Parts: sequence; structure tokens; C-alpha cells
Amino acid sequence: MRFERDPKGPLGEIFAPVAGFGVTFSSMFRPMVTEQYPFEKVPTQPRYHGRHQLNRYPDGLEKCIGCELCAWACPADAIFVQGGDNQPEEQYSPGERYGRVYQINYLRCIFCGLCIEACPTRALTMTNEYELAGPTREGLIYEKQDLLAPLADGMLAAPHPMVAGTEDDDYYRGDITGPTQDQVEWVRANRPDDASLAAVRPVAAAKGARQ
Ligand code: SF4
Ligand code: SF4
Repeated sequence: MRFERDPKGPLGEIFAPVAGFGVTFSSMFRPMVTEQYPFEKVPTQPRYHGRHQLNRYPDGLEKCIGCELCAWACPADAIFVQGGDNQPEEQYSPGERYGRVYQINYLRCIFCGLCIEACPTRALTMTNEYELAGPTREGLIYEKQDLLAPLADGMLAAPHPMVAGTEDDDYYRGDITGPTQDQVEWVRANRPDDASLAAVRPVAAAKGARQ
């Protein structure tokens, strides 16, 4: 059966030659929605998938344990992780392992968020930052130092020992509320020039610390 258009009425016949301008004319009286980026930046939605961040625990230790699950989950092969063993004198994260090398290639990343879903420690999350452009290809491969969250108020820079009497489980449960005096003393003895010592705010003890 052949499709036949409905026949036009007399008004339709009159306006037929200019009907295509209908959308144009009706849009002329609506408010403009053009964004003046980059002069005016419009905030993103709170859950917008932007640049990644490697988070820390409240005492400053890193949440990444170098397990590589994020790299395996990535459909674009954009993440490269190499784990390392924590040492008593160089403890970067709770437990045995930490992310020694961590790279995200933003030329490959499609911002799908599968990597952050795969992360078992919530070390990896995504920020709202979307200004990811640069003049070189190498510059768009972000290294660990580019992705690591800055120290929040009162935190102590890693490496330093875990809170005395705690296991990595205590960190995962959220029982660590900040650096303790023991950790501050350790950094003071081993890295007296560490900048984070100036602003560190030690807490009494961790909730789950075993005596
Ligand atoms: S957001 Fe998606 S593409 Fe980007 S690194 Fe994570 S898993 Fe890979
Ligand atoms: S970011 Fe998460 S998933 Fe990726 S290596 Fe670190 S702990 Fe594992």
C-alpha cells in the first residue's frame, strides 16, 4: 500500500512555501542557551564522570592497593598499574601492597566509569573536572602524582606506618579518623623536612585499634 499524505487545507496551501521557517521563527523568541565557555563555566551535574582521583585515608595513607582490577575492567585499555610491596620503612597504603605505578591514558579513556566500579577499596573515583586537553600526547597520560588526591586538612603525607594496633580491615571499615601522634613522630624522625608536618592534626586513637 502506498503512503499518501493528508491533503492540505486552504491555510496549509497558503503557508506551505514558508512552513519550513516555522521552527526558526518560534526559536527566535526563546531565551538563548549558548554557553560562554571558557569565559563562564557552568557547573556539571554532581555525578558527572570527569578526571579520575586516587583517594587517601584520613591519616594520609593511599587507598590504592595496586590490585589492577581497575585496569582489567577498563574496556579501552586506558589504565596501567604496577603494584609494589609496602616495606616497614616505606608504607604507602594499609596492608601488603600499594600502587607503585599508576597511569591513565586520557587519549583512550571513554569515561565509562567501569574502573571505579571495579575498585575494591574505593581508591579510584571520578571528579567533575572535564578540562582534559593538552598540546602533547604524552601530557595526556596522567601519572600517579597527577591523580593522587591532595592532602586534606590535618593529613600526614605517606609513606608512614599504619595506625598502631590496626589491620587493613580497620581502614576499610572507616575506623581511622586521622593521623595519630605515633605516626607524626615517625615522620618527624624519618622526614623532618616533610611539609605536611606543619599542618598535621593528630587524633587521639583509631576506633578499631587493638591495645
Ligand atoms: S572510565 Fe572507562 S575507559 Fe576510562 S579508564 Fe575507567 S574503565 Fe577505562
Ligand atoms: S585503583 Fe582500586 S582497582 Fe585500581 S589498582 Fe588501585 S585498588 Fe586496585
